[in-house]
Amino acid sequence: MQAVIASGNQGKIFELRRTLAPLSWILLPLSDFEPLMIKETGSTFDENAVIKARAASKHTGLPAIADDSGLEVDYLGGRPGIRSARFSNSGKDIDNNTKLLRALSGVPDEFRTARFCCSIAFLTYHNESDPLVCNAQWEGRILKKASGKNGFGYDPLFFVSSHNCSAADLEPEQKNVISHRAKASFLLLTELRKKI
Ligand code: IMP
Repeated sequence: MQAVIASGNQGKIFELRRTLAPLSWILLPLSDFEPLMIKETGSTFDENAVIKARAASKHTGLPAIADDSGLEVDYLGGRPGIRSARFSNSGKDIDNNTKLLRALSGVPDEFRTARFCCSIAFLTYHNESDPLVCNAQWEGRILKKASGKNGFGYDPLFFVSSHNCSAADLEPEQKNVISHRAKASFLLLTELRKKI
């Protein structure tokens, strides 16, 4: 069985492949195909995950898996949320993190609560009416300075109280058990095992 992962984000592809490995599917990144620009026009993580999965399935003719994820910061009213990838003008991780630190400058620890959210959609055909959507969250707090070299995106600023370190200080194997994406993809794995 082959399926396409509707993402060009190496961090996401790595994490999804690891969790879904028990399926023994060949999971191809969208970058293996002709370039495709997908407009994320949804207003929720769930909607955007389905939009991406449909577009990738139509483009490749394969079943598709898509993740939409982001960081909700309570002090910022849930921002950057579905706009996490493009929070700064450049959209680069370093600039997104700098903007987040500035937005929380002077805010004490107790008001720096945040969560990563992840929705993962799976569909067999692009026009499937009832896609499978699994979602999960990972609670944490935004640090006052970056720490750690692993992971991607906002990981260096995301404090994980269970391990007393940032998400970027975690080994990939540790993050891949407790993260929002890990939890959502374990749910997906369970659902897919029922289907096949
Ligand atoms: P998407 O491609 O629209 O789903 O963008 C998700 C964005 O949210 C990423 O580019 C990151 O900035 C952020 N994000 C999502 N998941 C994670 C994670 O596991 N660690 C760090 N940042 C993440």
